[in-house]
Amino acid sequence: MTLANKTALITGGTSGIGLGIAKVFARNKAKLILCGLEDISDVTDICRELSNISCQGVDYFQTNVGDVRSLESLFESIHAAHHTVDILVNNAGIQHVAPIEDMPPAKWDAILAVNLSAAFHTIRLALPGMKQSGWGRIMNIASAHGLVASENKAPYVAAKHGVIGLTKVVALETATANITCNALCPGWVRTPLVEKQIQARAQALGMSVDEAAQDLLAQKQPSLQFVEPEQIGEYCAFLCTDAAAQITGAALTMDGGWTVC
Ligand code: NAD
Repeated sequence: MTLANKTALITGGTSGIGLGIAKVFARNKAKLILCGLEDISDVTDICRELSNISCQGVDYFQTNVGDVRSLESLFESIHAAHHTVDILVNNAGIQHVAPIEDMPPAKWDAILAVNLSAAFHTIRLALPGMKQSGWGRIMNIASAHGLVASENKAPYVAAKHGVIGLTKVVALETATANITCNALCPGWVRTPLVEKQIQARAQALGMSVDEAAQDLLAQKQPSLQFVEPEQIGEYCAFLCTDAAAQITGAALTMDGGWTVC
């Protein structure tokens, strides 16, 4: 498979799952556009490494996806460089763990903005170009928490359930336009986002970090193994193939059995 004539925008594409997807897309020769909160000087090495793999160039834009104006300016820059977003991966996400009474309202607002509203805005900004070119693939990185709940994660669970609803609407509205829109629902992936939760668990339960990681898996993920970022990347690449052209509006699990029962 090749994505040689495709441009892929991956939000949060320089860390964790987003970076795993970027690596797989680079190997498939896509032109990459990455955005995130990091300063460009902090991601220069990552972008150079990806660029060496893909040979199609990697552009990075420091962008706060929780801010509508920042996203509009990102798309203005993309269009000014004469690129159309063929593949959109809404991946950027944040977490805050606390019971509802202790959840700061500002955390609710921020998590809804980054994990849900950003996907609405990038999709509305990318769709005209996809419709004009007659091809598009949208992948929203939801979560097992888009399908089931856990305590102490109200804004995250609400946002991820919302992403799956948004995915279904976009799939219906683009069904005849050669555009697909799917949600991916990973279980635990050992990234900086989850590492914080592992560290907190180790401290709370007086365990080593490795014991806490195994304990976290044992609680939710029957396979007892973390999902790897590049496994998610390979799934995204598959969704760009002709074989996947009729997969749309789906919430696709990759969770070692977490949501089976
Ligand atoms: P991560 O912390 O490694 O990476 C998150 C990325 O999002 C970073 O690049 C960061 O710069 C970016 N980001 C955060 N806030 C942003 C903002 N306001 N504007 C722009 N970029 C911003 O986390 P990850 O685990 O790789 O998570 C990626 C996605 O996968 C998230 O949507 C997360 O909810 C989802 N997810 C993660 C897991 C897991 O176990 N790690 C499981 C299921 C779903």
